[in-house]
Amino acid sequence: MLFYDYTLEMLENYFSERDENKAKAKILYKALYRNGLRLSDITELSEKTKAIIADDFSFELPAEAALHDDGETAKVLLRLSDGSMVETVLMRHGYNTGVCVSTQVGCSMGCTFCQSGRMKKIRSLTAGEIVSQVLYMSKRFGNIGHISVMGIGEPLDNFDNVKAFMEIASSPYGLSLGGRHITLSTCGIVPYIKRLDEVKCGFNLAISLHSADSAIRSEIMPVNRRWGIDELIKTVKEYSEKNKQRIAFEYILIDKLNDSAEQAEKLAALVKDINCFVNLIPYNPTENSEYRRSENADVFFDVLKKRGINAIFRREFGGSIKAACGQLCAECAEHAEYAECGK
Ligand code: SF4
Repeated sequence: MLFYDYTLEMLENYFSERDENKAKAKILYKALYRNGLRLSDITELSEKTKAIIADDFSFELPAEAALHDDGETAKVLLRLSDGSMVETVLMRHGYNTGVCVSTQVGCSMGCTFCQSGRMKKIRSLTAGEIVSQVLYMSKRFGNIGHISVMGIGEPLDNFDNVKAFMEIASSPYGLSLGGRHITLSTCGIVPYIKRLDEVKCGFNLAISLHSADSAIRSEIMPVNRRWGIDELIKTVKEYSEKNKQRIAFEYILIDKLNDSAEQAEKLAALVKDINCFVNLIPYNPTENSEYRRSENADVFFDVLKKRGINAIFRREFGGSIKAACGQLCAECAEHAEYAECGK
């Protein structure tokens, strides 16, 4: 069993089922996650208890298969225990360091602007495999101040494991990041957005919108054919009001596709009654995509401002190291080591 798959409650149950004091769960959690100790170094647990834990659990972290680091962004390809590859990105902001984790091997959502959408989902990651990305990056690069659940994969297509991950990440005995330091982004799987208040840590919610026009959104995000814009916006508004949360709408500006003044007007009308802001993201062009970066971004931004919508241009990270979602993995598909695991 991978230790990092266990939430604190699961670990308490593990000890209770063995007629052991469940307080050992907190001791173990705190020592490993907070204090960075190895099992053998924990003095508050008996040698007998440690031997049982060592027998039952694996504490293995993924192995680094490739690294691209431009000093500002480090993109790491990690090999999991079954040989599957995931990518994890470190972003060095001036004020803190954030990590962007993957939640699936590949993704079946098929967004046309995304490299991961072309890789197809192989499987979902366990909670522990997501936790171990954060642990690996923190061991490799130092303290992590923010987690973005925005890497490869659709988090809400892996709801239970992502929920457990968020619990471990925000537990004061676990990774100990307050909810406001965790951001989850979804392409809009409505039934699971409705269940997001099961995650109690008060995290930030981002919605990958990318168009306010139903036909265009269905063209670039197939998920929109299943849960259309109106249903999505209604659900997000309810979530925002119930949880008193400000929502981020992500919007990649793609040349002559979703970047006209008319599209900006539509976007403003769609989100005007929601406590939100719009993150405008420059498209990061790739070799095998016909999409180009917008040249109309300023006009788009001005329309939103005129309509009273909070909008910001998201700072670009990693253009020089192919940090756009999925690009490193796609490159590595040609590597023998990647082919070995059959992806
Ligand atoms: S943008 Fe996100 S949901 Fe869409 S294909 Fe890429 S990883 Fe999947």
